[in-house]
Amino acid sequence: MKLPIFLDNHSTTPMDPRVLEAMLPYFVEKFGNAASRNHAFGWEAEEAVETARKQIAKLIHADSKEIVFTSGATESDNLALKGVIEMYHEKGNHIITSATEHRAVLDTAKALETKGKATVTYLSVDKHGMVNPEDVRKAITDKTVLISIMLANNEIGTINPVKEIGKIAKEKGILFHCDATQGVGKIPVNVQEMGIDLMSFTGHKMYGPKGVGALYVRKKAPRVRIASQMDGGGHERGMRSGTLVVPLIVGFGKACELCEQEMEAEGRKLAAMRDRLQTGIMKALEETYLNGHPTQRLPHNLNISFAYVEGESLLMGLKEIALSSGSACTSATLEPSYVLRALGVGSDLAHSSIRFGLGRFNTNEQVDYTIKRMIEIVTKLREMSPLYEMAKEGIDLKSVQWAAH
Ligand SMILES: *Cc1c(COP(=O)(O)O)cnc(C)c1O
Repeated sequence: MKLPIFLDNHSTTPMDPRVLEAMLPYFVEKFGNAASRNHAFGWEAEEAVETARKQIAKLIHADSKEIVFTSGATESDNLALKGVIEMYHEKGNHIITSATEHRAVLDTAKALETKGKATVTYLSVDKHGMVNPEDVRKAITDKTVLISIMLANNEIGTINPVKEIGKIAKEKGILFHCDATQGVGKIPVNVQEMGIDLMSFTGHKMYGPKGVGALYVRKKAPRVRIASQMDGGGHERGMRSGTLVVPLIVGFGKACELCEQEMEAEGRKLAAMRDRLQTGIMKALEETYLNGHPTQRLPHNLNISFAYVEGESLLMGLKEIALSSGSACTSATLEPSYVLRALGVGSDLAHSSIRFGLGRFNTNEQVDYTIKRMIEIVTKLREMSPLYEMAKEGIDLKSVQWAAH
């Protein structure tokens, strides 16, 4: 078995070699500009882009004319929020979103708030990280123009009741944007059934290339309009100017086609692997806690807190396995994950959390190695922890009077 092992598939995925193969001719040989309408080089590029558009649209049950290419989900989220707020400012300026959204949504909402362009309601989530559709309904005012709720969370894998939220949005005549970056290609996504009006997703989280993504923009019932955030040649029906990145778009399309064909079997395989990982770790180690929803979660996601162990120290001792912890290193402080905090997870257990993200190219052998190493390192770190020792001796840590420094 080759080391290091990549178990961080929520941050990015390796590109599928079949995707690379589809892309290669479009770098040198077929280099045309898809917007060149008057010669064969342009037609060839345009045809490749339109094929990709169809492959992408098929995966999410959309029409290919509803796909707007972007540089990735961050741009798609920006375009959706800013584009709707700008376009519908006469109708209202209120956005409803949730506390556990990706930073690309939260920071965009914050920026609109700071500039005085929008007011934002950040819904809290339940202990499993799920948004309650009734909370969405209650937050709606006559100024609400957009609801932005993610499909599946990138840290804890919890899948939101998007269909119910879509129903409420439709009933109230409010646009519904969904950041589906972690869900597309992993679980079935149907923009019709889910009542989604705008949807962000990206190539590099589904075995495609980095630097290309899409915003789905509904074309009828209702016809959604957004103000472009990039002015120029009027590409993408005027919603996103800029020469299309043909090779990346071809790769993104191929990645969607592969997901469409293989998602069901792959989901089952990954869920079984994830369960094996979860059971292997949690059976062997006491005081381990699952973060996120026990069943309504992405098949390839696992997030566990290991009490009395610092996630960052754990990763430091586990350099041969690529994982992610619930502590984000910022310049001055080590902040625990805002997602876990929103679930009500205490700061200690948030700092003790590890996210496992399985993917297409992981094997059971890698899973078994990970289980073995996790048990070794957690046991070792706990043996070195005075807090763990005290807890084992039956001392209630909450009753301890710590000396002030
Ligand atoms: C990764 C991710 C993004 C950002 O996607 P990029 O294509 O890297 O910009 C946005 N939202 C979610 C939920 C993500 O997981």
